[in-house]
Amino acid sequence: MIRTIEGIVVKTQNYGETHKIITIFSKEIGKISAICRGANKGKSKLSALAQPFIKANFLIYVSKGLSTVQQGEIIESYRIIREDIMKTAYAAYLTELTMMLTEDKEAERYLYDQLDLTLEWINKEEELMVPLFMLELKLFKRGGFAPIIDCCARCGDVNNLTSFSVKEGGLLCSNCFHTDEHAMLISPNVIKLLPIFMNAGLEQIGSINMKKSNIQLLRNIFDNYYDTYGSYQLKSKRFLSQIARLEG
Ligand SMILES: [Zn+2]
Repeated sequence: MIRTIEGIVVKTQNYGETHKIITIFSKEIGKISAICRGANKGKSKLSALAQPFIKANFLIYVSKGLSTVQQGEIIESYRIIREDIMKTAYAAYLTELTMMLTEDKEAERYLYDQLDLTLEWINKEEELMVPLFMLELKLFKRGGFAPIIDCCARCGDVNNLTSFSVKEGGLLCSNCFHTDEHAMLISPNVIKLLPIFMNAGLEQIGSINMKKSNIQLLRNIFDNYYDTYGSYQLKSKRFLSQIARLEG
């Protein structure tokens, strides 16, 4: 069956010397892998399509085995992301996470829209961490390992939330704080932001100013949390931490 789908390239790999297999996260049918014949030959029309983060309308022959990209029309190539190593690292991380945590040929319209908006944001804005947190939380939820952020992960109290415990899988209240010596104190403002990050779409967010120290704290928490509960090793994640170290 031939179909036109709108989608974002979330993975590319070489197939033989001249072909590529790309994984597209699409609006209509979710994730699908397809071969781009000749995409590694410079002259092929498909070579521009078979690149990470490309958003395009793809004409695909969908088959039970390996589907085939017939042609496509680029909607957005995210040139600015491509030219900036930090932006590339973030986009690679989010697309890899999306690829790992979604199922083949299962439409995920909301996640598609959020990934789309997040890449647009990364392409044009300077401050990237808030949209990153927002999409990460939604993807953790999709993967079935969302942290508990609306009440104490230990006793269920919704008041006096003070800290985050990776071990308990979420926030802790002031009474339970002592149960995990590694629990990290978080300011009340940031605690209030977490449910918004998880449940609001990026389109609802104008801008959120967070202190650099709070951003770094959440970054640490999210990384530790994923290392503990995320079951996939992410190649892009190693790259990201290497670059983050370089940038200081
Ligand atoms: Zn508690």
